[in-house]
Amino acid sequence: MEQKHIAIFNIPAHGHINPTLALTKKLVERGYRVTYPVTEEFTTAIEETGAKPLQYRSTLNIDPRQIREVMKNKETAQQMPEMFKKEVDEVLPQLEAFYENDRPDLVIFDFMAMTGKIMAEKFGVKAVRLCSTYAQNDHFHFRAMAETIQMGKAEEQLPDLNNDNIPYFEEIFQPANLNIVFMPRAFQPYGDTFDERFRFVGPSLAERKFQEKNIPLVKDDGRPVMLISLGTAFNAWPEFYEMCIEAFRDTKWQVIMSVGRTIDPESFKDVPENISIHQHVPQLEILKNAKLFISHGGMNSTMEALNAGVPLVVIPQMPEQEITARRVEELGLGKHLQPEETTVRSLQEAVSKVDDDAELLNRVKDMQKNIREAGGAEKAADEIEAFFKLLTVK
Ligand code: UDP
Repeated sequence: MEQKHIAIFNIPAHGHINPTLALTKKLVERGYRVTYPVTEEFTTAIEETGAKPLQYRSTLNIDPRQIREVMKNKETAQQMPEMFKKEVDEVLPQLEAFYENDRPDLVIFDFMAMTGKIMAEKFGVKAVRLCSTYAQNDHFHFRAMAETIQMGKAEEQLPDLNNDNIPYFEEIFQPANLNIVFMPRAFQPYGDTFDERFRFVGPSLAERKFQEKNIPLVKDDGRPVMLISLGTAFNAWPEFYEMCIEAFRDTKWQVIMSVGRTIDPESFKDVPENISIHQHVPQLEILKNAKLFISHGGMNSTMEALNAGVPLVVIPQMPEQEITARRVEELGLGKHLQPEETTVRSLQEAVSKVDDDAELLNRVKDMQKNIREAGGAEKAADEIEAFFKLLTVK
């Protein structure tokens, strides 16, 4: 029998591609032929899943050294939707060329990858939408929530609601017939109000062999491990890492700090023996042994921590992460620290509060259980297959 062809579309960002890797692998194992257009940076990760990477050129290459500033400034933040629209124009012809003579039977797309939605319409095939962050409905409007958070922060505003670019943002939040959400329902705000089109499967995690070469890190010497990372995009904040060095210098902690690709780990002076600094670390491996995670609250990092039963101190770098920081604190899974209130002292206080709180740890373990029960990549693949079979029977 001829293999069915599934095409997966995404944007070139770790936070969006990582949650699809385990799912992609499952679909390949279940006998589908999967193609996955990505930029060069991600080809190895896709190859590892057994899917076929199709390499395209992207216009989206924001330097982490600029992105924090871009998001803080109203004028430049307004250019973001424009940037994504330009990307669609650039990428679409490349994708059309890939698929012209090899049409997919089903499309799967990350909610930010409008190209996927357009390609599905072009080929007249159904599409499954992946939510690598919060899902949205009438009760939880991601944008409205982000706007509320921004109120009162004069310098840090999202684009105006009346702006021409809003339809683009509205469009990406439109649900499909099947929406796979990579968090447990318990973490989604107003989780109970989402209908059966939304399937909350929790994080979809797989071993990351492509990262294995830089595993050295955790020393098995009895000291508790603390991971510090601001993720892969909003990470260019050298002063923050300096504060962390001072805050945890010569403490009981074995600190592993990931500072991102734009900062040279050697540039930090007088680094104590208990702190190691790297540009990128195998986060899933480290979380297996960690006791605490100081994070920017990226959705993947947050889910990966909770999946490993690790409490959080969240220092958000943009509105989505601030929603997460608030959610983490509201659910009693960690502490929220505002970037502008982050000092050596407040870091130490937040860490000691989280570290000493046995009840907080119990709640984290409960959320870990929720995540395990949500089913992850296996469940996501079940849902997609059920949907797909339903379609092919028709
Ligand atoms: N990550 C990693 N090592 C690092 C930093 C990040 O493996 O040193 C991974 C992390 O495990 C997560 C992703 O990169 O899967 C970051 O995604 P997230 O949504 O947390 O944040 P973003 O980078 O999109 O801001």
